[in-house]
Amino acid sequence: MRDETCIFCKIANGEIPAAAIYEDEQFRVILDLGPASKGHALILPKNHFTDLTDLDEETSSKVLALAAKVGTAMKKSLGCAGFNLVQNNGEAAGQTVFHFHMHVIPRYEGGPRMVSWEPGSPSKEELAGLADCIKKELK
Ligand code: 5GP
Ligand code: ZN
Repeated sequence: MRDETCIFCKIANGEIPAAAIYEDEQFRVILDLGPASKGHALILPKNHFTDLTDLDEETSSKVLALAAKVGTAMKKSLGCAGFNLVQNNGEAAGQTVFHFHMHVIPRYEGGPRMVSWEPGSPSKEELAGLADCIKKELK
């Protein structure tokens, strides 16, 4: 399950060098070349999946536990106070590399604001309408 044109397939399988921090049979974890903060890492499955909706069950069942392990190691090694998991799906959501990846972004006490948004203020009716609309597709 490889895509010969995909740069993350090549990085995940060791054909293009990267600063790797972890590897097992299914995943390679590397440092991001354009980090949001010191130690920003990317969890890459070795198999090619375009995004979250394309992942197989085996990979999706393991990725969160691996993210927790990486985040814990960052807290111990880098002294970050917390970390964010970011996972973009689709161009509109900011995805630029179309091979599933999970960002693990260390956050430092007093560090810059990031991964944030201005909260909206929908009415109860709006929220209820939206909830109905999405619920229909989840059945
Ligand atoms: P996305 O925007 O698709 O969620 O994230 C893609 C991430 O991959 C970006 O943060 C970008 O800096 C990183 N990236 C893109 N190309 C490379 C590369 O060749 N090597 C590494 N280590 N990171 C990359
Ligand atoms: Zn790929």
